[in-house]
Amino acid sequence: MSSSAPRPLVAGNWKMNGQFALLAEAAKLRQAIQAQPPACDVLICPPATLLAALAAASAGYALAVGGQDCHAKAAGAHTGDIAAEMLADAGATFVITGHSERRADHAETDAVVCAKAQAAHRAGLVAIVCVGETIGQRKAGDTLAVVAAQVAGSVPDGALAANTVLAYEPVWAIGSGLTPTAADVATVHSALRAQLVARFGVAGGAMRLLYGGSVKPSNARELLAVPHVNGALVGGASLNADDFLGIIAAYQP
Ligand code: PEP
Repeated sequence: MSSSAPRPLVAGNWKMNGQFALLAEAAKLRQAIQAQPPACDVLICPPATLLAALAAASAGYALAVGGQDCHAKAAGAHTGDIAAEMLADAGATFVITGHSERRADHAETDAVVCAKAQAAHRAGLVAIVCVGETIGQRKAGDTLAVVAAQVAGSVPDGALAANTVLAYEPVWAIGSGLTPTAADVATVHSALRAQLVARFGVAGGAMRLLYGGSVKPSNARELLAVPHVNGALVGGASLNADDFLGIIAAYQP
């Protein structure tokens, strides 16, 4: 990490996992973070049912809390949805938008993801905008074109380093135990950085770029050392405090 690189972010996405008992893992995380302040920002995005409780328990600790999705509108007749303002009201400071599971399960287009990221900004949240290619797209040699189009369509105009994080998550690496090589990650992240700088100037140079997809303690050091990788978005390994701490430790000297 060069001295001008943004402070890294290690973000956990609990997805649709966890009941109240899982908050014990977050308590373990808080204790560890308090005992040894990490060299990165740390975030947990729990299921919505746990968000307010986790945020209340984490107040005063260096542990941020985020949502996994939000609706584009601030309020209204949208049964089952959650507005970005509601997440903020519950104690969130981040929200993930456009995770590939939502793009696939809920047919979210780039335009929908962009509207959600705008909603996050409206509510004062940091949007973690996710992009990534499928295995078919990678095999066809389309990775860079696919993620460039997703970034162009999903990151709102006027995005700032303070309110936007971009997460590159190859769909085929999520939950599979497979990861791209460090060289492959470097190729994508340097292309993303160039695209952000071309569009947003200085802000594009300062936006955090996360890598996500089967990050675990054993591969974190290598993946997080790749140029223009400013942290990780972690699914499975974020459910266990020791594993998540093992990833955070990749930033310790
Ligand atoms: C994710 O879903 O964002 C993710 C990266 O999952 P995993 O770490 O389990 O691959």
